[in-house]
Order: sequence, then C-alpha cells, then structure tokens
Amino acid sequence: MAKIENIDGLPLRFNDGSLVHAVQGSVVQGDILLLWTLCLHDVPADAAVTGDLQVTCVNCLEEMDRA
Ligand SMILES: [Zn+2]
Repeated sequence: MAKIENIDGLPLRFNDGSLVHAVQGSVVQGDILLLWTLCLHDVPADAAVTGDLQVTCVNCLEEMDRA
C-alpha cells in the first residue's frame, strides 16, 4: 500500500478551522484516496490542501519529528 505524503511535491495539509494538521494517505482498491492526519483523524477527501502551510497541531508536529 503506497503511502502518500505529498502531491506534486507539495505536502498535504488539513485546516480544521482552528489547527493545521499534517496529512498522509494511501490509495486503496485502485483509485480510492484515503486521507488522515498524523494525529489519526480522518480527513474528508476534498478537504485536504497542498502547500507549505505551517502545521500547528502539536500531535502532528510530534509525529513529524519522529519520522
Ligand atoms: Zn493533527
């Protein structure tokens, strides 16, 4: 299962209205894109954005540091 952490070289981010999370995902069953934040919340497929947004979720930042 290939992991997706960026699209066209841009990192995936999700702004939930108060925090910006880092997002990763994978393609399942050929063409279904599943996305979730590094702090393990589901992300609606059309809610993620690409770009160098500063991640502000501390749980996501911790996971990014660990990687
Ligand atoms: Zn997060």
